[in-house]
Amino acid sequence: MEDYNSLLEVAIEKMPKKTHDKDRFQIPQAITEIQGNKTLIRNFIDIANILRREPSHIAKYLFKELATPGTIQGSALILQTKLQQNVVQKKIESYVSEYVYCKVCGEPDTRFAKEGRITYIHCDACGGRSTYKHF
Ligand SMILES: [Zn+2]
Repeated sequence: MEDYNSLLEVAIEKMPKKTHDKDRFQIPQAITEIQGNKTLIRNFIDIANILRREPSHIAKYLFKELATPGTIQGSALILQTKLQQNVVQKKIESYVSEYVYCKVCGEPDTRFAKEGRITYIHCDACGGRSTYKHF
């Protein structure tokens, strides 16, 4: 087990360092499926992982923007209305421009950070801070 771990460490070290290449980041495509009067986003948790945001935050945004309630179930998000893939996709894209891209340099390598009572988007690429809309 120890050997395996040290091998793994070496392998990780050999991996190229993260580059800040804008072309590398692609907004994930939602895989949707209509079931009765509901819409499933099958790869919802994957999308949240790629965007590095809390699934609950993205879900809340989609509920508000799509004017429908819903629930996270396993790795999917279930929306209580029928929606075409492109409608869902557009909202994911607006989420990304509002909450993922750095407003200073435009890179997607950002995270939510908090200082005191103020939350902001911290950019790992340029160190910039930008505010974001709360909902
Ligand atoms: Zn930045």
